[in-house]
Amino acid sequence: MDQTSIVWSSENAEALVTEFGSPLFVYDTVVIERQYKRLRQAFNRCATRIHFAGKSLSNVNIWKFIQQLGAGFDAVSIEEVKLALHAGFDPREILFTPNSVGLAEYEEAIRLGVHINVDNLSILEELGAIYGDRVPIGIRINPHILAGGNHKISTGHIDSKFGISVHQMRHLHRIVDHYGLRIDGLHMHTGSEILDVQVFLTGAQILLDLAMDFPHLEYIDFGSGFKVAYKPNDLETDIEELGEKMCGLFNEFCENYGRELELIFEPGKFLVSEAGTFLTTSQVIKQTTSTVFVGVDSGLNHFIRPMFYDSYHHIDNLSNPDGKQRIYSVVGYICETDTFAWDRPLPEVRQGDILAFRNAGAYVMSMASNYNSRLLPAEVMYINGEYRLIRRRQELNDLLRDQIEIEWNQNALS
Ligand SMILES: *Cc1c(COP(=O)(O)O)cnc(C)c1O
Repeated sequence: MDQTSIVWSSENAEALVTEFGSPLFVYDTVVIERQYKRLRQAFNRCATRIHFAGKSLSNVNIWKFIQQLGAGFDAVSIEEVKLALHAGFDPREILFTPNSVGLAEYEEAIRLGVHINVDNLSILEELGAIYGDRVPIGIRINPHILAGGNHKISTGHIDSKFGISVHQMRHLHRIVDHYGLRIDGLHMHTGSEILDVQVFLTGAQILLDLAMDFPHLEYIDFGSGFKVAYKPNDLETDIEELGEKMCGLFNEFCENYGRELELIFEPGKFLVSEAGTFLTTSQVIKQTTSTVFVGVDSGLNHFIRPMFYDSYHHIDNLSNPDGKQRIYSVVGYICETDTFAWDRPLPEVRQGDILAFRNAGAYVMSMASNYNSRLLPAEVMYINGEYRLIRRRQELNDLLRDQIEIEWNQNALS
């Protein structure tokens, strides 16, 4: 959680905020590379491909960096597919795994040479009628296991909208046989923040049991959901243990299957969460009858995870690390309750202090909005020992750019 290679101090925080403004996202590429290599190492006993779930951190420089590490890409929208191609991913390294999109979006992905994972039977049937066996297709299965840190990010349970149910295999095979479809991959993604290795193995076993009935497989994609540490001494998925056990299971399966397949993972959070730090500046210290609030120059518009997922994000007061500890509620400036942290002990916070929010790499800036007509912050990437600007701070004009100001006859109004 605090293992960035950047050594944070009041000096470098102030220098960054002076140069690039506050609030500010800073991404440490050393951490991304470390996480990537850790995952590779953990799964070195079986043929594994790592596809970065780009939605977790949508900056094309980060995508290029991860592409250069050797990863593929997991896209959930056609726009992500196009941006990933722009970032330099080969179409064959891109997996398109959308949900609730129309046939046209799949067709466009196919035209772009990208591999698709289909997650419902009606689209599968339509694709079968058009392409027959000419386009290999992966199938997203819903194994119906309850996993994940929060109901919004649990995607594998019985009521989930994701995937084709394991109970629909009969009809799936009917469609496959009728159209002569070539199913070359099975996929599942059961949720985010799964701590328990056994949950992954249970899901994997369900997928591997189904896999025997698909003779043309090239890969099995176990999705993602690795939990990372958010608090000091927080537990995280034991990736080394998982790699050991998963590779054992997978290699044994390949032997029974009669061919070497590839195992795919699609981590987002695991690769980029800890790489990100969000710098904010305290604007107001407000003592009420019940609480001491620190109001910072940001809010749920930039950082919605604590309000949306109840996630914990560690906060450091970089400007006053040795200050006396006090208990605060850290809140944003949005006209809605946007609390980053309740009852949080912090070294005394003064107006103008720089507060650093940890684990700000995944699902933070990529979920940000202009709510309250606030500008989006700048993003900086720390690479080869330098801080490089990779997204400029928005300006007022950016808020007007897409609006069309029309004129009308005011006299005609009744
Ligand atoms: C979001 C998503 C992921 C990444 O999940 P993380 O928890 O960030 O690792 C992987 N695969 C699919 C299909 C996704 O939608």
